[in-house]
Amino acid sequence: MEVSKPRVVVVGSCMIDLVSYAPRLPRAGETLTGRKFQQGFGGKGANQCVAAARLGAETALIARLGDDSFGHEYLKALNKEGVQTGYVSITKEMHTGMAQIVVAECGENQIVIVPGANRNLCVEDVQLAKETIEAAKVLLFQLETPVEATLAALKLAKGKGKRIVNAAPAVLKDTALFTESDIFCINETEAEELLKIPVKSIEDGYKAAEKFRDLGCSAIVITLGSQGAILSTQEDPTPYHIPVKKVQPVDTTGAGDAFLGAMAYYMAYHPQLSLKEIVHRACSVATISVQSPGTQSSFPYRNELPDALL
Ligand code: ATP
Repeated sequence: MEVSKPRVVVVGSCMIDLVSYAPRLPRAGETLTGRKFQQGFGGKGANQCVAAARLGAETALIARLGDDSFGHEYLKALNKEGVQTGYVSITKEMHTGMAQIVVAECGENQIVIVPGANRNLCVEDVQLAKETIEAAKVLLFQLETPVEATLAALKLAKGKGKRIVNAAPAVLKDTALFTESDIFCINETEAEELLKIPVKSIEDGYKAAEKFRDLGCSAIVITLGSQGAILSTQEDPTPYHIPVKKVQPVDTTGAGDAFLGAMAYYMAYHPQLSLKEIVHRACSVATISVQSPGTQSSFPYRNELPDALL
């Protein structure tokens, strides 16, 4: 039984990243010898939860792991991060979600994701966590787990906590996600995928934000990598650009998850800040993360933040 009430609740995925570094990507049927291998904890749900926890948020994750060594290891790792795991269940006879990644020397990659236990996240899991969901100040959702569970949790939280839907990957199984979220958040490639228009520049971002608002999103955030982010809300519909500091990135993997975890943290713990300021601070946290290698390993801890971001 959970005792304290987490302010940030994430309904989402856990994946193990198995990353092989090779001189180039293999051709069909080819066996290549790589030069380095790395295993990491991933999955957008867990990543965003860990990003918020490291900034000091009390968090809970609602997720599924497989009944294998990866699943048991992941559970321990989440507990070590201080994430409440009372609603992270080990699924019998299922494997943990896997992301097999090959990174070529030129930076190109190839990824195969097998969702495994993530596919079993269901409405019943959400019902079991009803009290925690209803008490949350901020809830985070992505699209790597079944949409039925997401919609059930969005409904429970309606009019209670702020619901952020991160439409990643860009396979929108239900358009209710546009209208059932308080903030819809997406990156430039996902925006292109959903709207079928180019989203490369800040100007493109303004147009895309307007289109998302037309589709019923009450607030939209589009992240644009090194170009920062665009924000448009019902109260302040003119799309607004938030720039980021110019840095030399080391590894941008997981930047979007660092951004979302940070946004949830600021909304839950600094509700007096404007959404513009929250997006600005979340961008700054994500910019810190791109200066370190790895996904979760690149997310900053609270004691690493400058005073302006506390
Ligand atoms: P990923 O899929 O790699 O996890 P993403 O594509 O979802 O990330 P981005 O839009 O690339 O997300 O980046 C999210 C935020 O991270 C940006 O809004 C920005 O604040 C920061 N960021 C990303 N890349 C850079 C960069 N090269 N320089 C500075 N900040 C960056």
